[in-house]
Amino acid sequence: MADRVRPLIAGNWKMNGTAAELPELKRIADGVDGTRSSSPYDALICVPATLIDRAIKTVVGSPLAIGGQDCHGAESGAHTGDVSAAMLADAGATHVIVGHSERRADHGETDIDVMDKTLAAHAQGLTAIVCVGETRQEREDGQAMDVVDTQLAGSLPKDAAPGNTVVAYEPVWAIGTGLTPSLLDIEAMHDHMRQRLRERFGPAGARFRLLYGGSVKPANAGEIFGISSVDGALVGGASLKSDDFLAICATV
Ligand code: PGA
Repeated sequence: MADRVRPLIAGNWKMNGTAAELPELKRIADGVDGTRSSSPYDALICVPATLIDRAIKTVVGSPLAIGGQDCHGAESGAHTGDVSAAMLADAGATHVIVGHSERRADHGETDIDVMDKTLAAHAQGLTAIVCVGETRQEREDGQAMDVVDTQLAGSLPKDAAPGNTVVAYEPVWAIGTGLTPSLLDIEAMHDHMRQRLRERFGPAGARFRLLYGGSVKPANAGEIFGISSVDGALVGGASLKSDDFLAICATV
């Protein structure tokens, strides 16, 4: 991925991870290449909110960044059980995933919610990883690009910039299923998103990181990263095992 946007390999631990998994996180931190400036990629693990503080302490001194998996769109207030962007930042997170399809499905999050969350993240200096992607039915109906267009237009705020926003294309049907789109389909979607970002944000649109997510494994990461418009990955299941995550990183 030379001469390209600096890749980001991001793990999403989802609702997995207690103190028992901190040694695994430490192995990831120890295995991630070099320092932040000399490594050919950035690495991030998004852990459950309850683990952020201990995760930061576990990886201190390594180039591995720690992020959250969701934040509320409001700054604070009467939202029992929710976590604000300020709380994530206070705990030491630098990134937060917003609009993951599991949040959109399980919690009915809309593009407007995702935009609010993105703005809340930016207000706290967090980089928002905004997830978009079509369902299997939408792909079969030939709607994939339209769906992603709508999500991008509705979820990305005006202040989105390459320094505070990452876009992750995650086809819903590829998440946790072992299925992936063809390389040509991934390339077509990423090129399409790049074009849309350029239309909306001008030259800055060329510098947003565009991640692919959905069943990324050591066996397929190299060919996916070989696509010039793919700037890294959002990795779910394979980020739980240090060997798998580091093997994915090694293919960058
Ligand atoms: P997966 O999940 O790698 O397990 O498919 C990706 C994600 O949901 O971010």
